[in-house]
Amino acid sequence: MKAKITNSCICCGTCASICPMGAIAMAATGDKYEVDPNKCIGCGACINACPVEAIVEDHSDEKGNQ
Ligand code: SF4
Ligand code: SF4
Repeated sequence: MKAKITNSCICCGTCASICPMGAIAMAATGDKYEVDPNKCIGCGACINACPVEAIVEDHSDEKGNQ
């Protein structure tokens, strides 16, 4: 599982500050944060920390779950 940030993100920065892998940063578009799937270890900390529930589980990288 990787974390994925939806458009509900209000750019509070909480997830980026608590991610143990430093996998979250402002997106290039500047209107939301985004997860670097190459760094995310799926710990789920950001999902629990987001105040607006903008972060969801992304299982698209797993077999049999396209
Ligand atoms: S699931 Fe864990 S490692 Fe992945 S982005 Fe969230 S806090 Fe970082
Ligand atoms: S904690 Fe939620 S609202 Fe705040 S920057 Fe991260 S995804 Fe966006």
